[in-house]
Amino acid sequence: MRKLNNTRSKSLFNHALELMPGGVNSPVRAFRSVGGDPLFIARADGPYMYDADGNAYIDLINSWGPMILGHNHPKIRKAVIEAAEDSLSFGAPGEKEVLIAEKIIKMVPSVEKVRMVNSGTEATMSAIRVARGYTGRKKIIKFEGCYHGHGDSFLISAGSGAATMGVPDSPGVTPGTAQDTLNAIYNDIDSVVALFEANPGDIAAVIVEPVAGNMGCIPPIEGFLEGLRQLCIDHDSVLIFDEVMTGFRLARGGAQELYGVIPDMTTLGKIIGGGMPVGAYGGKKEIMEKVAPAGSVYQAGTLSGNPVSMSAGLTMLNLLDGDMEIYSTLEQITNNITGKIESEFGESGIEFTINQVGSMFSVFFRKDPVKNFADAVDSRKELFTEYFWTMLENGIYLPPSPFESAFVSITIGDKEMERLSTGIELSAKALKNR
Ligand SMILES: *Cc1c(COP(=O)(O)O)cnc(C)c1O
Repeated sequence: MRKLNNTRSKSLFNHALELMPGGVNSPVRAFRSVGGDPLFIARADGPYMYDADGNAYIDLINSWGPMILGHNHPKIRKAVIEAAEDSLSFGAPGEKEVLIAEKIIKMVPSVEKVRMVNSGTEATMSAIRVARGYTGRKKIIKFEGCYHGHGDSFLISAGSGAATMGVPDSPGVTPGTAQDTLNAIYNDIDSVVALFEANPGDIAAVIVEPVAGNMGCIPPIEGFLEGLRQLCIDHDSVLIFDEVMTGFRLARGGAQELYGVIPDMTTLGKIIGGGMPVGAYGGKKEIMEKVAPAGSVYQAGTLSGNPVSMSAGLTMLNLLDGDMEIYSTLEQITNNITGKIESEFGESGIEFTINQVGSMFSVFFRKDPVKNFADAVDSRKELFTEYFWTMLENGIYLPPSPFESAFVSITIGDKEMERLSTGIELSAKALKNR
């Protein structure tokens, strides 16, 4: 195997394999798409994660987004500890819920009313239920390669093979559910027009990652989001931006602020909890008023609005909202990383494409632009694997899959940039020698 001192991680993984499916609680963590064994993480601080064997890695996953301010942020940690001193859960309303709702509504342009939940999956499942209740229609349109959590309705061409309309990808999703999910092609507005035409009066909602991050990072081409906006107006359908990943990451108000396209509903997660399990969905008042107990669309949660989670999330949002430079600084740091990759990989004559929006980026090993899922799949996986392991050996933790975006945190300084540069140079060499 590779030059890693990972004895303790290996033995933990072997034990975990006997106890949990695939040894993990979420599939991508098992490193299957890059081969080899996952690292078990013991702690993390600032830009670094430390594994069970004591190795330090510069983290370019950041818990898949939430740790935008780096790990173990002192103010967020303090907020969590202080909240915990007042008990961990009430199952009754508390002031923090009011404060975070006010903050989200202030920051995210489309959100006039909001409901807190416990994960991104819950947010998207609930949002489409509300959209169906609001419109009285059945079908939703999503995009091949977009991920909206593991709700049944979304596991149809979610990051897998050809767009076979309405055929379930995951065993356990019934054909009845699958037939109400229609798949369009990302960045291809004609594919959406065709679905609207084939299903007149049936489309409750279009749900989209306004910047895709779950087939690698794929930005919307000019006119794509605007086109979706107009189609949903023309057909009285609900436009849902799934900003679980992009919310509070690409701008204070997420991708909708960055691109100036305002959806009817928005789903949020990841950063919104500051590292605690939190999600939210919100949107226009008239739509959100359909949610129980104001309206008749049922959705509830025993631990929703949990005081410890709300404290972590509120502190995170306050920090992001209060720092006018943060998004330009994040983009600059990320530009330094992608610029280095561009020049080193370029000099080695490797065929590659870098997609970047703000502090999200992906390297695809193919020459042509990557605009949709088919493009993303049509790249050289073995080169990604080489890049991933060379970076890891050099103390840099990338997402262990070519179909995941990297996430940069504000804590990458000069020292970390030096280590990143070395890793990138050695990766270019390793890739060239293949
Ligand atoms: C991560 C993610 C989800 C699911 O969120 P979980 O908290 O993992 O359930 C949904 N949509 C998008 C765009 C995501 O990136």
